[in-house]
Amino acid sequence: MKTLFLSAADPICAETAANIIKSGGLVAIPTETVYGLGANGLSEEAVKKIFEAKGRPQDNPLILHIAGPEQIEEFAHHIPQGAYDLAERFWPGPLTIILPAKDFIPRRTTGGLNTVGLRCPDCDITREIIRLSGVPVAAPSANISGKPSTTTAQHVRHDHEGRIDCIVDGGPCRVGVESTIVDLTERRPRLLRPGGIGPEELLEVLGDLVVDKAVTAQIDKDEVVKAPGMKYRHYAPQSEVVIVGGSREKAAAYIRSHFEPGDRVLCFEEELSLYEGCNPLSYGLEADVNTLSAGLFAALRELDDPSIHQVYARCPVGGGVAYAVQNRLKKAAAFHVVDAEEEL
Ligand code: AMP
Ligand code: MG
Repeated sequence: MKTLFLSAADPICAETAANIIKSGGLVAIPTETVYGLGANGLSEEAVKKIFEAKGRPQDNPLILHIAGPEQIEEFAHHIPQGAYDLAERFWPGPLTIILPAKDFIPRRTTGGLNTVGLRCPDCDITREIIRLSGVPVAAPSANISGKPSTTTAQHVRHDHEGRIDCIVDGGPCRVGVESTIVDLTERRPRLLRPGGIGPEELLEVLGDLVVDKAVTAQIDKDEVVKAPGMKYRHYAPQSEVVIVGGSREKAAAYIRSHFEPGDRVLCFEEELSLYEGCNPLSYGLEADVNTLSAGLFAALRELDDPSIHQVYARCPVGGGVAYAVQNRLKKAAAFHVVDAEEEL
């Protein structure tokens, strides 16, 4: 298959991409979070292609991307007031809301669940593609399953050139980590995945929030979870990753004393000079957590190299989007964290 490349700036981009989606094809779409691998979310056949292209387990549900908040009622029912409040405050934006699904939504899209994840992305070209296609666009992150997510069109090209119909290049993703997911189908709102919208902001709107266990700990393969996708290994480069916590100086002392040739250090820009000779890679500024979220996956992809033995990673502290960066790094590290303050 020949993959068509379209620039978001091209006047025929939205219409061309929408036509491919209408006819059951796969289009990689830019969003403010990560690039998605999009298809008609109401077509079993089209959605099947997403799972095949990614090598994604069948029980891992897909998020439906919609053009505006007014579409919530087309696809969900029994909608609590909190959903409208969240949509008004955060859409278009990096927030997915889980609601009871209307029956016509294929179970292949929802991973067999009777709930559906809805999101309205903050990306003009992609909302236009969705609008013109006339269907909700099911789109998981465009990476091959288990690999770090795609935050540039080049990442998508690397994973899928010749295997999907079209890639829309909208430049690098602004947020860089996947959407926050909040489940509103139970008595209490539940955070299933942290993302660009911090838990503090959700709490402000909803007045209550439970943080799911899958956010903070490794989930056993056989465990029954709210969102099956949460139990799979994620975001991981091929090498072992360990997060080293503690002050800049203590962490550097710990890493330098354990570092062996062939290892790498993933650190903040401000720390580069502490790791001379240790082949450090910066993923952004500690002083500006938005640069860390935007740079994380590109860095993890660069470290996805079988010749690297061990990656020592530095992780920001705090809430907001830092909470999402912590979550992705911890998943990449299979929750392997050492505290340099205690180790030395
Ligand atoms: P991604 O591959 O980054 O697009 O992730 C999609 C994730 O959204 C899944 O792995 C689930 O964790 C979550 N998700 C989507 N739809 C649902 C749903 N109906 N119920 C619970 N979680 C969902
Ligand atoms: Mg993903």
